[in-house]
Amino acid sequence: MFELDAGLDESALVAAISEWETVKARAAAAQARASVLLAAKRRAAEEARGVPAARRGRGLAAEIALARRDAPSRGGRHLGFARALVGEMPHTLAALESGVLSEWRATLIVRESACLDVEDRRALDGELCADAARLVGKGDARIAADAKAIAYRLDPHAVVERAARAQADRTVTVRPAPDCMTYVTALLPVGQGVSVYAALKHAADTNSDGRSRGQVMADTLVARVTGRAPGAAAPVAVNLVLTDDSLFGDGDAPARLAGYGPIPAGVARALIAAAGTEGAATLRRLYAHPASGALVAMESRARCFPAGLAHFITTRDDTCRTPYCDAPIRHIDHIQPAAQRGTTCADNGDGLCEACNYTKEAPGWTHTAQHDENGVHTIELSTPTGARHRSKAPPLPGSPHIDISRTEWLLSTHLGNNAA
Ligand SMILES: [Zn+2]
Repeated sequence: MFELDAGLDESALVAAISEWETVKARAAAAQARASVLLAAKRRAAEEARGVPAARRGRGLAAEIALARRDAPSRGGRHLGFARALVGEMPHTLAALESGVLSEWRATLIVRESACLDVEDRRALDGELCADAARLVGKGDARIAADAKAIAYRLDPHAVVERAARAQADRTVTVRPAPDCMTYVTALLPVGQGVSVYAALKHAADTNSDGRSRGQVMADTLVARVTGRAPGAAAPVAVNLVLTDDSLFGDGDAPARLAGYGPIPAGVARALIAAAGTEGAATLRRLYAHPASGALVAMESRARCFPAGLAHFITTRDDTCRTPYCDAPIRHIDHIQPAAQRGTTCADNGDGLCEACNYTKEAPGWTHTAQHDENGVHTIELSTPTGARHRSKAPPLPGSPHIDISRTEWLLSTHLGNNAA
């Protein structure tokens, strides 16, 4: 079915692209049905084994996410989406099954109806999706707006309450942008968000030193948040991992900036030079020759990971070690539990986010550690159904794998923000 015949003419190719889009939507509907069935079977099996009701289904959402090769943190959304579609929204499910709705558009409808009770949710489902022909041609924004309008008409109180609850989700995140830039994103209640933007715009309106409006707004944001003029060292330490060549010579192996990812060696040296003027950098060896007493071999009798070892593992793993999960590390955990004679050492430690650490403790989950043929620290996860997933430590600067014969440096430094 997925064989592409190179002899197809243009209109047949367009037809094939369209056909496969339908197949994707149908597959999403089938995944939703399978997820709901899996959840029911798991619960029945757990009930039969005498697992208390409150503990049933633990870790299931993460299992579904891993099966979908998605971040475990999205598992709850996938399972909730499946339950709503299969249990409460037959028309939306049918529209997905026929390919009129994509999985994302069906997700938007489920999301906008999430604050409603079951009866109102069924009403929204019927009103929006019973006549599938009326969905044709509607984009993401139209679908979401239509669902929102119906939800508000059905139960204005629930929608307002949901908006109030959403304020609890306010947060700030950072993610890499191309060319050594970053996006700092703030999710704020609408009033606050608009006033932040207005304040920055006002700064740009009253400035005339030749910088562009965008530049003035960005500089003002940095100055007001860090309390320092743009260009001054930020008062917070960050970690850079780099090779000795990149640090002391003119090597071009990229460095890794914790929480960001790889940056060119020249940019790393410029950051360090700017920090050096403040005298704020500390340097230590991360990997050294095994014979010289490397950190790698460090082992502790303590049941908890001591700070130096925890720091090492956090640097090695960079983000949560569960496949597809990019969340920041919150726990250094024993891969083989200390209670089962697991040692407190780098090889037996993994950096996990809070949710994944909790999932790992659920019945039926096991983690084992090994080194692959290149010496890369590798964790194999096994889920309650026996599905296996592998997680390799990310490559360190300058090598596709950990080369413990070369010195890597971990530099904790206060960065000047004009250095790049
Ligand atoms: Zn995680």
